[in-house]
Amino acid sequence: MKISEQQLQQVDRQIKRLLKSNNFYGTRLREAGITGVTCEEDFYSLPFSEKQDLRDAYPLGLAAVPNKDIVRIHSSSGTTGTPVIIPYTQKDVDDWAIQFARCYEYAGVTSDDRIQITPGYGLWTAGIGFQAGAERLGAMAIPMGPGNTEKQLQFMMDMESTVLTATASYALLLAEEIEKRGLKDKIHLKKLITGSERSGEKIRRRIIDSLGVEYYDIYGLTEVYGPGIGINCDHGHAMHVWNDFVYLEIIDPDTGEVLPDGEWGEIVLTTLVKEGAPLIRFRTHDLSRIVPGPCGCGHDEHPRIDTITGRSDDMMKIHGVNVFPAQIEEILASFPELSSEYQIRLSHLEGRDTMRIYVETDGTVDWEDLRMRVARRVKHGIGFTPLVKIVELGVLPRSEKKTKRVYDERYD
Ligand code: ZN
Repeated sequence: MKISEQQLQQVDRQIKRLLKSNNFYGTRLREAGITGVTCEEDFYSLPFSEKQDLRDAYPLGLAAVPNKDIVRIHSSSGTTGTPVIIPYTQKDVDDWAIQFARCYEYAGVTSDDRIQITPGYGLWTAGIGFQAGAERLGAMAIPMGPGNTEKQLQFMMDMESTVLTATASYALLLAEEIEKRGLKDKIHLKKLITGSERSGEKIRRRIIDSLGVEYYDIYGLTEVYGPGIGINCDHGHAMHVWNDFVYLEIIDPDTGEVLPDGEWGEIVLTTLVKEGAPLIRFRTHDLSRIVPGPCGCGHDEHPRIDTITGRSDDMMKIHGVNVFPAQIEEILASFPELSSEYQIRLSHLEGRDTMRIYVETDGTVDWEDLRMRVARRVKHGIGFTPLVKIVELGVLPRSEKKTKRVYDERYD
C-alpha cells in the first residue's frame, strides 16, 4: 500500500513536531539530519522505533506537547520491566473515540444497541476505549469491567445487552456458563467484539455456535491509541485499518525491508495525526500481511490486514522464505485425520536446510498416502516441500503450559 501524498504531508508535520519536542525520536531525527519528508523514498529512510525506546522514555519522555496539553495517560501492561506511558491530548482522546465508533459501525452496531463492556478499566486502554466509542456512536454503554460472571449474566439478561465486548477466552467462559445454565433464551446478544489476543478458529466456532452471535475482531495496541484502529467487516476475517489515522507497513522482521502486499511479515505503524505521543515506523512485532485486492464491503480506502498469526520472534527462515508456525498449524488443521499436536524440526543436512514436520494420526488411515498429501499441501502453502513424519497418536509431547513445537537444530 503506497503512502499517499496526504499521508506524506501528515508524516512531515509529525516530524516537525517531534523535532521541536526533542523527545527520543526528535533527537534521533536530528542526529540523522532529517528535517522532513517529501517523497516515498524519504519516508522509507526514516528510522524504526521500538518498544524499548518507549520504555527508555519513562515516565513522560514520549510527550511531544507541553504538559498543559496532556489530558490523560495510559500504560501498557508491563508485567516485567519498566512500563510504557503514553500521554494523550484532548484531540488524541477524541480521535481514538472516532476510530472506535467507526469499528462499531463496521460491525453494524447502531445507537439502538446496548454494549456490555467486560475488558478492564484503568491504566489499560481496553475498557475506556470500548466505552468512549460506544458513547460517540450513541449506543448505551454498560461498563461492567472484567470478572464477576454472576453479575455479568444478570446484567446481560436484565439490561438486554445486544453487543458483548470481551477477550475471546472470557467470551468462551460466558458462552459456556450460558449454555450450562440454560439461559440462551433469556439473552439478546447479536454481536461479539473481541480483541487483544489471538483466538484459534476452533474457539471462534465454539463461541459463534454457542451464543449465535456475529463475531468481530478488533485491532490495536496501547502504544498507538489502543484497541480500535481496525476491525473486520462482514466479508471475512481480515481487518480494515484506519489509514487516515495510521499508516501501515509490513516488513521483513529480519532485514527491515518493506514487503509487497500479500506477503507475511511484521506490522509497522506510523501515527499520522497523533499529538501527545506521535510514533514513526513503530515496530509492533505482530505478524500479519496486507490482504491484496478489493473487499466485498467496498471500503477499499482502508487497507486490510489478515488475522494476527503470532509474534515476529516466532519466525523461522528457511530456503530464504520466512515461515511462521501459525501458517503450518493452519495447514495441518485442514486435515481432520491429524491430531492438533505437531512438531517442527529444522536441521542442516548435507549442505541444505531441511524442515521435518511430525504429525499424529491413528491406524485407520493410509500413512503413506497421508504423508504425501500433507507434504503437498504444505508445499503449496509455504513454497517448499518438508519431510513429513507420521507418528502414532499420543507420541508427541504434551504439556499443560505452552508446548514447544519448533526446534531449530541448524546451529547447534
Ligand atoms: Zn470489508
